[in-house]
Amino acid sequence: MKYCTNCVMPDTKPGIVLDDRGFCNACRTKEIKKEIDWNERSNQLDEIIKKIKSENHPFYDCVVPVSGGKDSWFQAMMLTQKYGLKTLCVTLAAHLPTTEGIQNLNNMIKDLNVDHMKITIKPSVFRKIRRKCFLRQGEPNWAEHSAMFSSVVNTALIYEVPLVVWGEDIAFEFGGLQRQESKPSALEIDNSDLIKEKTIKDWLDNDVSERDVFFYTYPDYDKLKEAGINSIYLGHFLPWYGRRNYEIVKARGFVGRQNGPLSGNFLDYDNIDEKLCEINIWFKYLKFGFWRATDQCCYDIWNDQMTRDEAIEIVNRLSDEFPKEYFQDFLRFHSVSEQEFWDTVEKFRNKDIWEMENGQWKLKYPLK
Ligand SMILES: [Zn+2]
Repeated sequence: MKYCTNCVMPDTKPGIVLDDRGFCNACRTKEIKKEIDWNERSNQLDEIIKKIKSENHPFYDCVVPVSGGKDSWFQAMMLTQKYGLKTLCVTLAAHLPTTEGIQNLNNMIKDLNVDHMKITIKPSVFRKIRRKCFLRQGEPNWAEHSAMFSSVVNTALIYEVPLVVWGEDIAFEFGGLQRQESKPSALEIDNSDLIKEKTIKDWLDNDVSERDVFFYTYPDYDKLKEAGINSIYLGHFLPWYGRRNYEIVKARGFVGRQNGPLSGNFLDYDNIDEKLCEINIWFKYLKFGFWRATDQCCYDIWNDQMTRDEAIEIVNRLSDEFPKEYFQDFLRFHSVSEQEFWDTVEKFRNKDIWEMENGQWKLKYPLK
């Protein structure tokens, strides 16, 4: 386990290769982004918007997936107010939303004055799939990611909406893959790092059948192309920075977490809309030796808002905190006992990077 010499990302993150200088993929992305002609990119987006407006679509011009988070609020703001498209906002409903999450989604709809559709997945099926993803893969949120991509794109297909607009291309921005170019098209978003090679079919058995999983099933690419549906990453066309998005929407009514950052977090506005994702992210610590603090600090380093030394201090101070806030909610939601939870923790703990020292698990290669 080696750390990037420019940020603090370890090379245990899937897809990361450190170059001769010890720089990670995302740090190389940062260099590439400085070379991008953003005027040219912005013109390309103008062309897409112009074409859609000229087609006079009867229903909506675009679908924007929204969660009540800072980034999706920014996306919806750009599409409705800057570009003037008839926008349908679509939310995959959180099953355990936070007070702030509910408030932010409501504030966003009021602020932007948009139509909004909420898709709530049948709870029994959602629980079962999440539980399986947790026990077998140590990644309960696979279910959400799959359902989010599929339900949003299916909505566009059903209602013949010609454009779906996502936020940033995470593989490019966060350096998860070898790709050194951001992609304009998000049509194959179901094939991203978050989904990997699995499909919903891998989770079907006696408990969950095909008739229960329409909104988890991504449409065929050919069908989407035939229907003329375009799907794009806004972050390909406009410079993207979460902290800036936060500042913009904060002035419009977005609220951060009222009790300050969650355990292990350095920010109080990142992924605060629901309660089930923290344990999912914490499992990265077991598997790869990093989680929230590293992600949040690296993001600020990539955007020249933090030095590496500051990040080292924060990461080493916060990473050992356990995400205790919604732990009981997590157990209850999945009908998982504490024993079963800790057994699963040990099943997914990567012994190549963890060792036991005086009865405590420690990383073998701490960040220095
Ligand atoms: Zn780096």
